[in-house]
Amino acid sequence: MSLQSTLRRIQIAALNRTHAATLRGLSKVREHRHCPLCGWTGFQFSAGKPGPFFRFDARCPSCWSAERHRLAYILLKDSLPAKIDKILHFAPEPEIQKWLQRSCTEYHTADLMDPQVMHKVDIQDMPFEDNTYDLIWCSHVLEHVSDDRRALSEIRRILAPNGIAVIQVPLWGSKTIEGDLPTSERVRVYYQEDHLRRYGMDILERLSMDGLSVSVRNVQELELQLVLRCSLNDMASNDVFLLRKLA
Ligand SMILES: [Zn+2]
Repeated sequence: MSLQSTLRRIQIAALNRTHAATLRGLSKVREHRHCPLCGWTGFQFSAGKPGPFFRFDARCPSCWSAERHRLAYILLKDSLPAKIDKILHFAPEPEIQKWLQRSCTEYHTADLMDPQVMHKVDIQDMPFEDNTYDLIWCSHVLEHVSDDRRALSEIRRILAPNGIAVIQVPLWGSKTIEGDLPTSERVRVYYQEDHLRRYGMDILERLSMDGLSVSVRNVQELELQLVLRCSLNDMASNDVFLLRKLA
C-alpha cells in the first residue's frame, strides 16, 4: 500500500470518527429535555404564558405539563400508595389526569367554574360525606379561594382516615400577603388578577390542622441533572405539601 493511500485511509477514518461524535452530540442535544409524564424528549420545553414572571423552557410541547406537574409526579410517583381507592381532583389538569386515573379505582373531578367536571362544587362548602376520598389533588387552587382555611377544613373533613391531600400553591418568600384588592392591584401584589393572596412559606401554619400531619416535598431533594433534564425549577412552585389524615 502506498504511503499516499495509507494517509488517505487514516484521514477518512478520522473524518468518520468526527462525524460519529458530532451525530452523538447532536442526538444528546436533541434529547436534552425529557417529560416524565408523556415521555417526550427534545431540545427545549415551550415557554409558559407571558406574565410578570415569564418562564421559558417550561411547558411540555407534547402534553403541556408545567414544571409543577412534572415535579409532583417525580416526587410522588413512588411514594403514593400503589393502588388508591377514590381520588378527587380539583380544577383537573389534563397533564396529570391520566396518571391519577391509572392510580385509582374511582376518579372524580371537581371545580366551581369548569362545566366539564363531575362535581360542580365550591371547595369551601362541599356536598360530600365525611371520610370519602383517599386522595385529594388540589394544585394551584387555594390562591383563588376567598376563605382558604375553610376550604382546607373541608378537605380534611372529606379525606378518608389515612387519606392524603396533595396541595400546591405559588409561593413567594416567607410571608403570606392577602386582603381585598381591586383587580388592577392584584396583578401588582398577587402577580395574577384572579389571585386573592400571595402565599409565603407561612402557609404551613394554615395547613397544620388538628387531625392532620403535614409534610413538605421539594425540588431540592432531587439530583441537579434530573431537575435540569425535566426542567422542574419554577421559582414560585417548588414545594409539594402532603396532608395526611390521622386515623
Ligand atoms: Zn409531556
